[in-house]
Amino acid sequence: MSAYTPPLDDVVFLLEEVIDTARLMALPRYAHVDAALVRAVLGEGARFAADVLGPLNSAADRQGARLVDGNVELSPGFTHAWRLFAEGGWPGLDLPQEAGGQGLPLTVQAAFAEMVQGACLAFGMLQLNGRAAAHLLLEHGHGGLREHAVPRLVAGDWAATICISEPQAGSDVGRIRTRAEPRPDGSYTLSGTKIWISFADHDAAPQILQMVLARTPEAAPGTAGLSLFVVPKYLIEADGRPGARNHTRVARLEHKMGLHGSPTCVLDLDGAVGYRVGGEGAGLKCMFTMMNLMRLEVGIQGVAVAGAATAKALRYARERPQGGPSAQAPIAIIEHADVRRMLCTMRARTEPLRALYLEAALALDLARYGATSEARIEAGLLAEWLLPVCKACASEAGFEVASLAMQVLGGQGYTHEGGVEQYVRDSRVQAIYEGANGIQALDLVTRKLGRDQGRRYAVFSARVRADLQRLGSDPGLGALPGRLHEALGLLESCTAVLQDRLQCARRDAEAGAAHYLQLVGLVACGWTWLRMAAAATADSPLARGKRATARFFADYLLPEAAALERKALAGAGTIDALDGETLATYG
Ligand SMILES: Cc1cc2nc3c(=O)[nH]c(=O)nc-3n(C[C@H](O)[C@H](O)[C@H](O)COP(=O)(O)OP(=O)(O)OC[C@H]3O[C@@H](n4cnc5c(N)ncnc54)[C@H](O)[C@@H]3O)c2cc1C
Repeated sequence: MSAYTPPLDDVVFLLEEVIDTARLMALPRYAHVDAALVRAVLGEGARFAADVLGPLNSAADRQGARLVDGNVELSPGFTHAWRLFAEGGWPGLDLPQEAGGQGLPLTVQAAFAEMVQGACLAFGMLQLNGRAAAHLLLEHGHGGLREHAVPRLVAGDWAATICISEPQAGSDVGRIRTRAEPRPDGSYTLSGTKIWISFADHDAAPQILQMVLARTPEAAPGTAGLSLFVVPKYLIEADGRPGARNHTRVARLEHKMGLHGSPTCVLDLDGAVGYRVGGEGAGLKCMFTMMNLMRLEVGIQGVAVAGAATAKALRYARERPQGGPSAQAPIAIIEHADVRRMLCTMRARTEPLRALYLEAALALDLARYGATSEARIEAGLLAEWLLPVCKACASEAGFEVASLAMQVLGGQGYTHEGGVEQYVRDSRVQAIYEGANGIQALDLVTRKLGRDQGRRYAVFSARVRADLQRLGSDPGLGALPGRLHEALGLLESCTAVLQDRLQCARRDAEAGAAHYLQLVGLVACGWTWLRMAAAATADSPLARGKRATARFFADYLLPEAAALERKALAGAGTIDALDGETLATYG
């Protein structure tokens, strides 16, 4: 039960029939890309994920990364797999050809990322950091650092990390204390302790670049005083080769519920040499290049787990005989109505989020390379709106769908052999890291909705409305268009009330943020279901599955819109009924 089957057919269906990738490939930037190339790349990527990465997953769970004499040793097979990954050119899939990458759209990279993450989440964490850091350095780096680091990151010769968290600065990034003192040669000396740093040390690459947020002397308080530094494990010689060991040290690895193959490190910076990227005080802004890619990919992680768990549950349910008339042979549990309810729920939640992360990736591609400035601006607004929704909804779906898969497998699901309980443990952190989901909801409401007269919401809702108008009269879609129309209406009125509350009752708006985000996510999933079902015209199991699951979504999931709207508007009255001390007086 441990094999991983990448969702290649579904991804190709989405890229060719649902997501407007033709628009992307018409751009001069992607003149070298066509549907055949994308199919070939993803086919090869699926093979790599299934054959090379899939077998690492459960072994890495049993033998996680270890700290030996101050050095991190990765789980068996990781270093070899990383070499194959690098030789295949996978680290630079969406990086520009001028930088040694493959020059493919992020949209294609995102589809491949799901296969990597679905095969082995811990390995997925390793490749994500380096790719995101290369994008950051391309955008904000300069001089020798950029020249030396980017091609090596793209080639997979070097690795990278993201170093934000400190004991007193988790969600509250503005409280970072790590100090960066300027040195006469223009570099800096960094001192402080970063915690929970994924892959801060390992044996897969000879050089590791820690991308560190720190505070220069006299810097303003809060996030405005943060600058970004590259702190290499080995000092970088003039020709780019690694030199003397820098003063960084992994003091401890955390013991975790899951993701054992991904070392989570306490990293001491003890007078380490660092190089500033971007201006003083512009650190968080620069870091957002990396964080936005990582947030998208955490959403992809959620879909990857949900997809892998769904595939296992479907296979098991077809094979497990149980129940039926006692005089006859037992029937497969897939025939029971309640098991079907669970399996349909899993598909109904997973598949629209796959389309949604591809839509968000497409928006990011178009925001950079779109044909006109209007197209770029509109795509940028849509991407900003969709990113927190993808991150939060998909990370929750990953864990909840994995938990449903465990239910379908029964006792077998709870045992290691079933291959599902690891998904539950590994995926739980996705709602916590890269901005806890509560913080994503506040970002959506207070920043994305609260600024610029709600333009980001307006772009999103206009897209949903236009597709409803274009596709909604198809009788084959059953109740879906009507229910989506109702849900969009609820979202419209809820949005208007929250916008009002942001002006005069902010606490009420904040209290509703999490449910508002879920409501947006539900409408967004209805939107992608509408488009998937309308495109599924073929007489194939894939197309029949899409149309039937879209109707299930309309019957079983879309009605939740009314409850979500009500909760989003309930305000802070009842949650603030007790003061903090009385609330905490419990048991
Ligand atoms: C396995 C793992 C890997 C990680 N990898 C990295 C890494 O590579 N690099 C890195 O820098 N960090 C990493 N992290 C840290 C991660 O990003 C943080 O855990 C996360 O940002 C949350 O911070 P916190 O744990 O301090 O929680 P807190 O900030 O203490 O939050 C706890 C709870 O309070 C809520 N909360 C906090 N503030 C507010 C507020 N203002 N309003 C409303 N609610 C609020 C949160 O939503 C959350 O539910 C990793 C963590 C883990 C567990």
